[in-house]
Amino acid sequence: MMTASTRVTLQNELLQWYHTVKRDLPFRRTKNPYMIWLSEVMLQQTTIKSMLPYFERFLNRFPDIKSVAESDINDLLKLWQGLGYYSRARNFHKACQSLADNNYQLPTQASQWLELPGVGSYTAHAIASICYNEPVAVLDGNVKRVLARFFSFKDCIDTNKATQELQKLANEFMNPHHCGEHNQAIMELGSLICTPKNPNCPNCPLQNFCKSKNENPKTLPITKKMLYIDVSWGVLILRYKNTILLQSPHDKSLIRDMYEFPLAYQKNAGEWDWSNQTLNNLPHKPSKTGSLRHAITNKRILIHVYIYNLDDKIYKNLTKTLTNGLIWIYEDDLGQFTINTISKKIIKRFL
Ligand code: SF4
Repeated sequence: MMTASTRVTLQNELLQWYHTVKRDLPFRRTKNPYMIWLSEVMLQQTTIKSMLPYFERFLNRFPDIKSVAESDINDLLKLWQGLGYYSRARNFHKACQSLADNNYQLPTQASQWLELPGVGSYTAHAIASICYNEPVAVLDGNVKRVLARFFSFKDCIDTNKATQELQKLANEFMNPHHCGEHNQAIMELGSLICTPKNPNCPNCPLQNFCKSKNENPKTLPITKKMLYIDVSWGVLILRYKNTILLQSPHDKSLIRDMYEFPLAYQKNAGEWDWSNQTLNNLPHKPSKTGSLRHAITNKRILIHVYIYNLDDKIYKNLTKTLTNGLIWIYEDDLGQFTINTISKKIIKRFL
């Protein structure tokens, strides 16, 4: 973590930068918790540009919590039409109604906001920091990206543990004197400067202390999606009369001690390297092809299935050269072999 004086310097630079670039938006001209709450709800999954006309129409029709609580949900949904994610509107309506017993008084602390239907930690922190200067840091996708780059956070950010660690870093970075503005500044930095594809480091107020600036910030944050590798494999089904070719367990078996259909890794598009060399040159076109998807740990696999019904001549030639545990078995006996999951999927789908 940074020293206290570095932190103060950065907080000030971030705030100054925010004051020069911030967009003038209706919900930034107020600290009215009802308006801030509504804006945060509408902004979930929606861009500022798209939500603004809805925000203004909604406030004209429903100027306060009481007006929402006493309205028919269908009137709310009509005004919400086009914004999508209607559960947001339903939860907002329900939450306003739940405040009736308390004379429509809104909570003042993040922990109390969290008790309302549909209010998660991001929304609770945003409202409590903006309206009541509570030092609770927001953590959305933008903030996670900025923090992961700034601190060179190399773990995958899509885990609960990473979220907790990033939340801790965000809380430590919080400016206690300007909590709401600090939160908005860091989000704005993520959407205008530290963008996913083109971080604009030379214009970033955090650049002097950013740990990724001189590495390659685009490689961070690491997400679950990035951990996946897309690969293509080939699987061969060779049939002759009522028999089928199976690979006995060997040292390259996909799963130890299990039988499988012969497997190949793709060298180039359409070019296969069969794990059993005997199969590299099959003499005629498959009778049928198909594909299916499967995932193993971090691999997303597209499996191309080639089914050949062999004639006598090819069968005899191939059988003469079969090596390394390739065996012909009766198709009806497949159930007697311990077969890996991919081969089971293929049997179910194609045989
Ligand atoms: S210096 Fe670059 S990578 Fe670091 S926070 Fe700023 S924009 Fe992001």
